[in-house]
Amino acid sequence: MNTSDNFVLKMGIIVVLIINSFIGCAQNVNLTTLTTSEKEGILLMREEEKLAHDVYSFFAQKYNIPIFRNITNSEVEHQKLVIQLMDQYGIKDSSYEEESKFHNKELQELYDQLTVQGNTLIDALKIGAYIEELDIHDLKQLMKETDNEVILGTYDPLLWGSQNHLRAFVRNLTNRGVEYQPVFLSAEEFYSILNK
Ligand code: ZN
Ligand code: ZN
Repeated sequence: MNTSDNFVLKMGIIVVLIINSFIGCAQNVNLTTLTTSEKEGILLMREEEKLAHDVYSFFAQKYNIPIFRNITNSEVEHQKLVIQLMDQYGIKDSSYEEESKFHNKELQELYDQLTVQGNTLIDALKIGAYIEELDIHDLKQLMKETDNEVILGTYDPLLWGSQNHLRAFVRNLTNRGVEYQPVFLSAEEFYSILNK
């Protein structure tokens, strides 16, 4: 074997090693199989973010104040984060493109009920706070049930965003002389979020 053959052989081995190490990395991220409850949690959050989006989008058309438009846009980003997570695990996103439609029956009922209830601006703002509370409550629960870093890395910014949104809705109510009482969160949790 002459020197140039030897070189080609060595390069070949190096290329194989590099490819193997890339495959190794990809496997480390993707091959952690999800438990059934992790997968169900992701699908729940997928539609819960859509619920927030669709309800605020509905109210944005009804009430001309910036908060509904702004938070609707933020919920678009939240949905994208969950869809990215689903892509990583090869979970198909079969949620409806159309607003106001859900596969999850409870979320469908919630959408139907909340959009009817939001008959005044004050009620609509209260519903905003209620949805964010629900989000925070469910995210905290799902985060307790998993140690999967990839999932936690997605839920963390969602939780942070929901706390921001909750503060914004409560502030809008306070500015209109309405005190919001928490529904899903304990008083302690609620005030610790408001005072952050
Ligand atoms: Zn959200
Ligand atoms: Zn939100």
